[in-house]
Amino acid sequence: RPRTVLVDDEEGGVLFLSSPPSSSGFGHSSLERQRQRLPVYKYRTAILYLVENHATTIIVGETGSGKTTQIPQYLKEAGWAEGGRVIACTQPRRLAVQSVASRVAEEMGVKLGEEVGYTIRFEDQTKPNVTKIKFLTDGVLLREMMDDPLLIKYSVIMVDEAHERSLSTDMLLGLLKKVQRRRPQLRIIISSATIDAKSMSTFFHIRRRNIGQAAEDPTPSELPAILSVEGKGYNVEIHYVEEPVSDYLQAAVNTVLSIHDKEPPGDILVFLTGQDDINAAVQLLTEDAQNNGLLVLPLFSGLSRADQDLIFSPTPKGKRKVVISTNIAETSLTLEGIVYVVDSGFSKQRFYNPIPDIENLVVAPISKASARQRAGRAGRVQPGKCFRLYTEEYFVKEMPAEGIPEMQRSSLVSCVIQGNKGESGGLNDLRRNQNTQNELKLKALGIDNILGFDWLASPSPEAMIRALEVLYSLGILDEDAKLTSPTGFQVAEIPLDPMISKMILSADTYGCSEDIITIAAVLSVQSIWISVRGAQKEFDEVKLRFAAAEGDHVTYLNVYKGFIHSGKSSQWCYKNYINYHAMKKVIDIREQLSRLLRRLGIVLKSCERDTQVLRKAIIAGFFAHACCLEEFSPNGMYKTIKSSQEVYIHPSSVLFRVNPKWVVYHSLVSTDKHYMRNVIAIDPSWLIEAAPHFYQVRKPNPAPY
Ligand code: ADP
Ligand code: MG
Repeated sequence: RPRTVLVDDEEGGVLFLSSPPSSSGFGHSSLERQRQRLPVYKYRTAILYLVENHATTIIVGETGSGKTTQIPQYLKEAGWAEGGRVIACTQPRRLAVQSVASRVAEEMGVKLGEEVGYTIRFEDQTKPNVTKIKFLTDGVLLREMMDDPLLIKYSVIMVDEAHERSLSTDMLLGLLKKVQRRRPQLRIIISSATIDAKSMSTFFHIRRRNIGQAAEDPTPSELPAILSVEGKGYNVEIHYVEEPVSDYLQAAVNTVLSIHDKEPPGDILVFLTGQDDINAAVQLLTEDAQNNGLLVLPLFSGLSRADQDLIFSPTPKGKRKVVISTNIAETSLTLEGIVYVVDSGFSKQRFYNPIPDIENLVVAPISKASARQRAGRAGRVQPGKCFRLYTEEYFVKEMPAEGIPEMQRSSLVSCVIQGNKGESGGLNDLRRNQNTQNELKLKALGIDNILGFDWLASPSPEAMIRALEVLYSLGILDEDAKLTSPTGFQVAEIPLDPMISKMILSADTYGCSEDIITIAAVLSVQSIWISVRGAQKEFDEVKLRFAAAEGDHVTYLNVYKGFIHSGKSSQWCYKNYINYHAMKKVIDIREQLSRLLRRLGIVLKSCERDTQVLRKAIIAGFFAHACCLEEFSPNGMYKTIKSSQEVYIHPSSVLFRVNPKWVVYHSLVSTDKHYMRNVIAIDPSWLIEAAPHFYQVRKPNPAPY
């Protein structure tokens, strides 16, 4: 009997497709048998048929059904990578890019970086003319569009995890729609775990203009096809707490211990929010005396390769694996063997308010859609259980049905937190201005009317205007909001947010590029310090050895010098509470930045000990983040100059309790208050020098300085 595959092509058409292809083409190794057992395998013919005949194919399928790892391989097997063409598959998260790429290389029996490769920012594991399947973050693909706006080298672009609605994904979809009008042969696959397929489909229903189309191939249908892959998830029993919990971290730890105590074998997956609470939970569980038999592993982006491998390796006999994760394990990565899920009900999310101009990465409640995804992780291999650390009443009555697309809750400028949503939890300072960077990308692509751009979900005009204002003050856009100046083009060339890029370019003028790229590299890793719970005092003392009166940025230079001086020793790092892996990454990023500057024709130069020019270069990029200490504030309250927002110096800063009158910060984190991270003391006159437009002297009100 032929299998029925429901294909909704918006005209109610249903296609009947015959049985899956025989497996004769495949060998019989265990990996291949595993491949054939995945739910998506039954749809192989259907998928290939739809991609062949439709410009856009939307594939919805449960997490773990094989979308990410299998579809690119099917496409390659069907010839989509012949003639030097490349199949691309994007992911919102870097860790997912690396992980799926290495899995696919393994399944294909090839070396990673050759036929199957990946690209994330600062790391390119592909080979020109060799790589056929390329995994990359959606941010990297956006950047590639600057050099190759029509993405000529790709035959198919699979935009994966579209339900996440990350900023870059949304932007990419908007741009791909434009590319498709110009290049009808390009195939797009939008895939996700849950998706509003209809609205995506409407968005992608392109009406092509009749431009000279290549005649070799028949043009695919303009109507997007929708295919839904049935998963084979097992039943998951949901348990709620009776009373709301006050401390979800402790509650999660207790729940894990009680599962371990009472429930039959099976691994546990715990959803917390970020690196800090994950590390704390790992520590509590590892310290606990009852933990015999528990193998506790953290999972967040920025994890080392070896730690990533541990997550995927089979649980040793007699042990129970406990993976404590950010929402990266919600849909991006599938872990085998999970039978129990503990759901805190929270994740880190970006929120932006354009009026005080504050963007935060905050721990916020998840949506019902996320909660269901999380629960589903327990039913992959057998019936499972999900323990929700919130009440049933809360779930039913209060939890929002869907999340809000990131586009509508992000700043377009001076976003304040290390946050690429793609890495909620493990976040990266440099990407906090992602949106401004994205906007620049649009500019660099020659898309000038940003306000009128066709988005899946429009950002607020206030956020747009705010972004344009800062970009203008940075000298990146001109009065007509056009990218015209040489600085503008250079900034667009550097794969960092515009404020950092501007800081680097200004360092050339101030003669301190050598030092500034070190600072930029340190700011682009999460943290170079290792914070040890309970050892705060020793840690603070050690930190004093490096502390500079000017602030954190100069302190980082001291750490870097010490590290180089030690011969890049891991022992030295250990003694000084410094994260060795982070420092190695700093060296690597710094090297790449110096190559980039050489390409831009900038000669590296050190200012030696002149921290004044160094700080001026920092201000050239970060003037919008200037704050002044409130005169009679007993608790070190600052106000931002531009919007009078209350902010405080973060306890991790070397300027904590020092409280210089004028400071510029790198990013804000918000918990109970808004805290400035990475702070430097400045002279206010430098601000006007750096950004006369931004700090115009307002008339009836006296100038703030
Ligand atoms: P989907 O994209 O539909 O969520 P994937 O293609 O990511 O599904 O996963 C398909 C299967 O491949 C899953 O069973 C998963 O466990 C397995 N898999 C994916 N990545 C890895 C990996 N790095 N190591 C081991 N198994 C993996
Ligand atoms: Mg996937």
